[in-house]
Amino acid sequence: MTWETVIGLEIHVQLNTQSKIFSGASTAFGAEPNAHASVVECALPGVLPVMNREVVAKAIKLGLALGAKINQKNVFDRKNYFYPDLPKGYQISQLDLPIVAEGRLEIVVGDEVKTINVTRAHMEEDAGKSVHEGLNGATGIDLNRAGTPLLEVVSEPEMRSAAEAVAYAKALHGLVTWLDICDGNMAEGSFRMDANVSVRPKGQAEFGTRREIKNLNSFRFLQQAIDYEIQWQIDLIEDGGKVQQATVLFDPDTGETRAMRSKEDAHDYRYFPDPDLLPLVIDSAWIARVKGELPELPAALSGRFQGEYGLSAYDATTLTASREVAEYYQAVVAAAGAANAKTCANWVMGELAARLNKAELDITASPVSAAQLAGLVARIADNT
Ligand code: ADP
Ligand code: MG
Repeated sequence: MTWETVIGLEIHVQLNTQSKIFSGASTAFGAEPNAHASVVECALPGVLPVMNREVVAKAIKLGLALGAKINQKNVFDRKNYFYPDLPKGYQISQLDLPIVAEGRLEIVVGDEVKTINVTRAHMEEDAGKSVHEGLNGATGIDLNRAGTPLLEVVSEPEMRSAAEAVAYAKALHGLVTWLDICDGNMAEGSFRMDANVSVRPKGQAEFGTRREIKNLNSFRFLQQAIDYEIQWQIDLIEDGGKVQQATVLFDPDTGETRAMRSKEDAHDYRYFPDPDLLPLVIDSAWIARVKGELPELPAALSGRFQGEYGLSAYDATTLTASREVAEYYQAVVAAAGAANAKTCANWVMGELAARLNKAELDITASPVSAAQLAGLVARIADNT
């Protein structure tokens, strides 16, 4: 039997606003516990949330960049659950009317270009954090992260391998940093991925039962966790078992996924519209304004590299993975001449990238300047 994998991703993108989504408290990372916990995050009685305009602007930006529909009327809902790091007893999120719907993102895997549909992106607040370290068995609550603005970006179940899922996640990461709506820092939790994975016999129309791997914070873990999960599900079914819908965690030390909770004890969040917040109405002029401020998008620049320089989709995508790489590459081509664009691409993506990687240097810190690399390319071109 051959199996086909089905993957859908839910990605939490932390927006890089100065203040929180419903209060003026700072979003700065790494402060003393609760230094950035205002009366709103502490949920003191009678306190009301006030929407941060910049969060909306950044959500519109991503929506436009995904070619999505911006819902001009969207609604905030309460997602109710109890947790010590959530003093209100609910998270403010969006259920039926998210700000962004029906977008798409192009990915390249090998020679194949594929479009992945983005179901929705909704605004929500992050929760606080429970702290156990150094507290002698007690638990501390740090509300600094509470109220940090997030966009949860949900894909259709259209990826068919771990490689495609990683390509999608990288494309989204590239886009949100390109747009400057997220700092992209995965170690600090600014970009967190949940992977929904199922398998089905090749040719079968309906999907298999999925398991959701929560909170992956690196592309390598995403790849490893999905690959492990696929094999685990196939082995289970081939041994006569059945996959139960469940939430699982990935353990980087063992490389395995293990169940956290099953569908049976899944939460009933009792969502309802938040009476403290009016529906958000976005006028067309605002959307037009944001559209006017959009930079050239990586997909457009990639298309230009393919059209003007004859680069492959793969090369063009790699060179537009970040603004910094794209700018460096353009500087090399400007100095070496468009006729050498392909050689420039090979050097930037090949030798230079490998050496920078080894030295753990960002391209902005490259000891070889774009002009110097262009000089090398020119000497290669004239057979010196
Ligand atoms: P929930 O809200 O319960 O998490 P959704 O229907 O919103 O469920 O789906 C969440 C994610 O799971 C989406 O990214 C979707 O593409 C993906 N997904 C849904 N069904 C499957 C499946 N059978 N296999 C893999 N992924 C799936
Ligand atoms: Mg989910």
